[in-house]
Amino acid sequence: MVCTVCQRQAIGGLTHPVCRTRYTIDGVFPSLVYKGTVKKLVYVFKYPPYLTDMRQQLVDLLYEGIIQKEQFVSLMQEPAVFVPIPLYQAKLRKRGYNQAQILAAGLARRFDLPVANCLKRVKQTKTQVGFSKEERQRNIAGAFVVKDDLSELVKANAHVFLVDDVVTSGATLREAARVLKRAGIVKVWGIALAHGE
Ligand SMILES: [Zn+2]
Repeated sequence: MVCTVCQRQAIGGLTHPVCRTRYTIDGVFPSLVYKGTVKKLVYVFKYPPYLTDMRQQLVDLLYEGIIQKEQFVSLMQEPAVFVPIPLYQAKLRKRGYNQAQILAAGLARRFDLPVANCLKRVKQTKTQVGFSKEERQRNIAGAFVVKDDLSELVKANAHVFLVDDVVTSGATLREAARVLKRAGIVKVWGIALAHGE
């Protein structure tokens, strides 16, 4: 597991103390490595012909991987809420579903915890594939806003877990965490189905 700020190894997926500022994500927990079969699974989950019957298996994989992360399990002793990384509206319409939403909902059921759709994607970002770390950061900057009704649900819960399918440079999770922290959330973490190169 790596620190998503400097991309170096980080114990338990925690952001290094020297890498953090006030609005930095606290840590990221990827469940699997994005290669081989996992890569194929994620691909068919996201792209045509949209094999949505894979949903349950992917949720199972995410769950099985994540409960083996000691740091994550200890955080789950406290109240928590899952927040999916939203898709841009036009993209959501085209795909018909948000894969991060499916994963968040699946985890929420497993842990008997709530999901809060409190982020909105206001910028149509380009696909991050092939971008350098700096380009990814520029591309995603300003992509999210917190919905007006940042629900009491989120405010009342000690830990917010952002959920996404694949984490690469971590730019997306970091940007979403920044927006939530600026809105007053103190502890924000990221969960991803897989960690890619
Ligand atoms: Zn670091």
